[in-house]
Amino acid sequence: MIINGKNIAAKIKTQVKNEVEELKKQGITPGLAVILIGEDPASKIYVNNKKKACEETGIYSEEYFLPKSTSQKDLINLIKKLNSNNSINGILTQLPLPNHIDEHEIANYIDPQKDVDVFNPSNIGKIMTGDAKLLPCTPAGIIEILDHEKISVDGKNCVVIGRSNIVGKPIALLLLQKNGTVTICHSKTKNLKEICQMADIIISAVGKPCFVTKDMIKKETVVIDVGINRKSDGTICGDVDFENVAPLTSYITPVPGGVGPMTIAMLMKNTLIATKLQNNI
Ligand code: NAD
Repeated sequence: MIINGKNIAAKIKTQVKNEVEELKKQGITPGLAVILIGEDPASKIYVNNKKKACEETGIYSEEYFLPKSTSQKDLINLIKKLNSNNSINGILTQLPLPNHIDEHEIANYIDPQKDVDVFNPSNIGKIMTGDAKLLPCTPAGIIEILDHEKISVDGKNCVVIGRSNIVGKPIALLLLQKNGTVTICHSKTKNLKEICQMADIIISAVGKPCFVTKDMIKKETVVIDVGINRKSDGTICGDVDFENVAPLTSYITPVPGGVGPMTIAMLMKNTLIATKLQNNI
C-alpha cells in the first residue's frame, strides 16, 4: 500500500484549523515566526510553504528574511524580541545557518515553550525521557503516518538509516518509546544490507537516491522514505528505489507526497500545541 502523506497532512491541517478557530473565539491567535538567513533557494521555498500552511490553518505568521552577513548577536537579539512578543507563539530558524553562526548556541536562546522546531537542548532532552510536549516535526510526522495506518511498532524490528539530530536520532527514540527494537545505522555501519533484511520497519533518512534497494528488504516490510534528493531533471526522489522496492512492501511512503507534507503539517500542530501551553490550555 502506498501511503498518501498529502491526505494525512491535509487531515491534520484541518484539525489544526478547527482548533485555531476555537482559540480565536477566546481571543487567542496562534502566531509563528520563521527566520531565514541568506539566499538559499530551497530554504526560501520551505519558508514560503510554511507561510502558505499558516494561511491555510488560520495561524498568524511573520517571516524574517535576513542577509547572509547577519551577525550571531543580531540573530540572538531578534530571537529575544520574538521570545517576548505575545503575538508570536512559535519561533523557527530555518536551517542551514551560515557558517559564522553557531547553531548550537542559537538553539539555547529560543524559548523552550516557543521552540516549535525542537531546537533547544532542553526540549531535545525531553524526547529522551519521554515527556516532550513538542516533538521534532519530521519524526512526529512519521509517527502520525504509522498511527494513521494503524501500523504497530510494538516488538517490531525497526531499522533507522541515518543519525541526524533532526531525523535519525529522534525517530529512533520515538520508535523505542513505542516498544520497537531499534537499530540505528549510519555511514560507518557494516553489514547494512543484512541488518535491513531483518527489519519489519525501515526508516531511511540518508539523502542518496536509490540507496535502499530490493535486495535489502524482506517481504511485507514497512518502508518510510524521508530522503529528498533532487535529480538532474529537477524532479525530486527519495532514498528508496521505489519502483523495485514497493512491490515487496506492506506499506511504503512515496517521494514526493509521503513524509514531506507531514513535516509542515506537524509544524502547524506544534504551533498550536505551543500556543495552548503558553495559555495554560
Ligand atoms: P544528514 O543529511 O544530516 O545526514 C545523512 C545521514 O545519512 C548521516 O547520519 C549518515 O550517517 C547517513 N549515511 C550517509 N551515508 C550512509 C551510508 N552509506 N550508509 C548508511 N548511512 C549513511 O541527515 P538528515 O538531515 O536527516 O537528512 C537526510 C535526508 O532526509 C535528506 O535527503 C534530507 O533532505 C531529508 N529530509 C527530509 C525531510 C522531510 O520533511 N521529508 C526532513 C528532513 C530531512
